Amino acid sequence: MYFKKPFFNFFSHLFSVAILLLLGLCSFVVFSPLPESNKEFIIVIDPGHGGKDPGTLGVQTHEKDIALEVSLTLGRIIKANIPNTKIIYTRLSDKFVTLRRRAEIANENRADLFISIHCNSVGGSATYRQSIKGTEVYVMGLHKSEENLEVAKRENASILKEADYQAYYEGFDPNSPQSYILLSLRQETHLGNSLNLAHKIDYQLRNKANRTSRGVKQAGFVVLAKTTMPSLLIELGFLSNPEEEKYLRNTQNQVYLASAIYRAIKAYKEELH
Ligand SMILES: [Zn+2]
Repeated sequence: MYFKKPFFNFFSHLFSVAILLLLGLCSFVVFSPLPESNKEFIIVIDPGHGGKDPGTLGVQTHEKDIALEVSLTLGRIIKANIPNTKIIYTRLSDKFVTLRRRAEIANENRADLFISIHCNSVGGSATYRQSIKGTEVYVMGLHKSEENLEVAKRENASILKEADYQAYYEGFDPNSPQSYILLSLRQETHLGNSLNLAHKIDYQLRNKANRTSRGVKQAGFVVLAKTTMPSLLIELGFLSNPEEEKYLRNTQNQVYLASAIYRAIKAYKEELH
């Protein structure tokens, strides 16, 4: 009896300390926020056009089909090579999605990045149409040339296929130059990050995928204006140029393009963390 009580007290105390330590550990595990680097990185990939909106046309190609193929390839490559990343597509098949819904998908999912994939084309003489070539990476802003404005007008024309588009786009008219000036006045909180990634993508397309690059540009794209995270729009090449149309239709080339974009995103993400 003489020894038993202190002996019991010692183990009882030890047991209490162990329980407290365990509870402390549990609360840390349960309640402490995840370190920033462990947070899932969410990328919304937006294949341009779809369904009743074919986008621009080559001789035998619809922009919507190339955009979908490259987008799905890009998502697959990112998923396989960048851990802790979630890919969300604005469409997975040949269906029409409004520009506002595309931006909503990114906003609702609190995406870290929004990447819209498109193909280019120009009007003008047949010689010009067929010889112009190269990639362009756009971020939101006021266009610095008529050419860039024309690209935005063509991409924004998608809203004309929506019923009641005037009700949803605050009076935006895809054919009015004033609308573009108003659009560009919106606060662009993420311009720095968007430009950073845009230059990385441009570098990869130019130097690693060996594409002719027409550079990083700014213009008023409705889909970019409505997103609330770093966002950009990539023109992969000109379907009005038969040589580029042929290049873009090739599956292996689609992998090269997607790989170039993937490497830029990987470098961008590593810089953030
Ligand atoms: Zn497009």
